[in-house]
This record gives sequence, C-alpha cells and structure tokens, in this order.
Amino acid sequence: MKALTLTAYHEFTYGEAPEPEIGPHDVLVAVKACGICGSDIHGMDGSSGRRIPPIIMGHEACGVIVKAGEAVSKWHPEDKVAFDSMLYCGTCPDCLAGRTNLCPERRVIGVSCGDYRRHGAFAEFVALPEHVLIPLPEGLSYEEGAFGEPVAVALHAVARVAPSPGDTAVVVGAGLIGLLVVQALKRAGCARVLAVDLDEGRLALAQELGADGGVNSRAEDALAQIRAWAGGDGADIAMEVVGISPTIQLAVRSVRKGGKVGAVGNLKAMVDFPLQEIVTREIAVIGTCASAGEYEEALHAVAEGSIRVRPLMSAVAGLSEGGEWFRRLYQNDEGLMKVVLRPENA
Ligand SMILES: [Zn+2]
Ligand SMILES: [Zn+2]
Repeated sequence: MKALTLTAYHEFTYGEAPEPEIGPHDVLVAVKACGICGSDIHGMDGSSGRRIPPIIMGHEACGVIVKAGEAVSKWHPEDKVAFDSMLYCGTCPDCLAGRTNLCPERRVIGVSCGDYRRHGAFAEFVALPEHVLIPLPEGLSYEEGAFGEPVAVALHAVARVAPSPGDTAVVVGAGLIGLLVVQALKRAGCARVLAVDLDEGRLALAQELGADGGVNSRAEDALAQIRAWAGGDGADIAMEVVGISPTIQLAVRSVRKGGKVGAVGNLKAMVDFPLQEIVTREIAVIGTCASAGEYEEALHAVAEGSIRVRPLMSAVAGLSEGGEWFRRLYQNDEGLMKVVLRPENA
C-alpha cells in the first residue's frame, strides 16, 4: 500500500509500505481522510519523543471497512467508520469507570514512543480493533469525519469543567482546539463566551463561530478588558488552551472567586502558577486530557451543525503532498488551521 512515513525527524517518504495485518478482533479500514494533528507537528522534530521514526503517523481519520477478522460480528466490509484514536483495554478499573483516557494500557494510533510503535492512518489502510470503531453519521463527509478526535477533545474538556446554564466563560488560546472549545461551551449552555488570543484573525474566526467577544492578549490592559467583559468579580469559567505561564496566569485571573479553570493546553511541562490566588480565591483547576467516550457525540455534533468544522479546514490535499503540508504547518507562518490528507485513490 501507499503510505506517508516519517523516516527521520523532519523527513517524510511517500511510497510503498507493508499492508497492516489484522487479528481476529480487528478490521482493516481503507482510509478516506486523515487530519494532521498538532501532536504530529510537535512530534515530527523529535521534541515530544512520541513519533520516533520510522512511523506512519495519523490518528484523526475515517474510512471504509474492507476486511473484518473472523471474530468480528458487528462490522462488515463497506461500513463507513471513524474510530477513537486511543486504544484502551476495556477491562481495567479506569476503563470500567468510563475513564478510558486514563487506561494504563492506553496506546495511540500513529504514535511510537519507546514503549510501543503503532502505525497510523497516513496510509491507504489502517488496522483497528473493532471496539474503537464508530459509525460515520449519515450525510457527514469524510473530511468532516476526520474532525471527530479534536471535537471529542473539546467536548471532553467542557464536560470536565461542567458549566451551569447561563455561565460566562473565557477561552484563552483560539487555535484549533480553542475554537472548538468556544463552540462546545455555547453548545453546553454557556450564555456568553469570550475568546482571548494574540492573533486578530483567530479572534475574528472565534466570533464567526459563536464567541460573543474577543480580547487581544497583546493589549497591556487585556486582563482589565476581560474582567470588564465578564462583569463582577470575573467569569465563571476559563479554559486555558495554550499551556505556558502567561496564559495560565491570565486564565486564573479571569475567573471569579470560586470559579473554575479548565487546563487543556500543555505546551510547557512546567509553568509559574499563581498559587496564592488559587488558594485564597478557591479556584478549581481541572485537568483534561484527550477524550473518554465523547467520540460519537462529537461526530453527531458536526453532522447536525452544532459544532462547525468547515471554517477550520485550511486545505484538503493528496497524501503524496503530505510532506510539503507538514513543512508548511511546522513553519506556522500562514495561519493554517486543520489540513486533511486523502489517499490518492480515496
Ligand atoms: Zn489529534
Ligand atoms: Zn483499561
């Protein structure tokens, strides 16, 4: 089969790769569309340690089943499917409690990190265990179906923070996940949502997608603007979707006493934390990672239009051009959001 392989850091090869083999409980999926994730970009230079070459990356995908293992009964060739990119065991205490993202056996498709190597979906075919498959809703295009993972991440983040109807929320960082979080907050019943970012284009896009205002964090009085917008003592909720010291501080200072901060971004492993404000103002800081069962809801939210992903799709390109798109995304100077790759015969 044809595949796009990361053969060395910063180096991609498009060409022949062995077709993945499937076990009795697996299916083989012909990939129709696969999005390039931020974690792939951070992986291609070795900085994250989670894409050790050689690896076929790609975990935000959907396609059509072409082959099912002999023990698979629920799925059949021709079924259109997306899949949860996190493989979990399904039997440990975390999995049984529904927190599959915390499974100690958790493995991510398209990742190689020293403990394992699991080839992903920047290829004509990908092998998947049947229990992670999700039917692609009727009428959803493959390109939109490739957004299941980032949308599920946003839904999970908002579910973790559990807004009450009518809450005000501030989203610090209006990149791809931030823009999905803005929409997920509105969908969850927040009355007003404010986007905060350095980039005016992103702030405009956030408002096109439902944010009720935008504040440029470059402004000297950004915090004062946020507080004025929220009114009273601050917003009920802030979602931090960057993961560096200044943005964590801004998020904590955006909320009222007793408010909640959802910690989504983690660009840096360590940040300066305004500890005293968190303690004395009783602010809850809630970590959120990946998703745990929100995948199907995510695909339906996109299909019904309550979460819009088309405005976030910067390009749809052939898999053979993937290396060039990775280079452009890595340079990060064109304001690109999501790039979706499609195998040439898809
Ligand atoms: Zn991803
Ligand atoms: Zn488990």
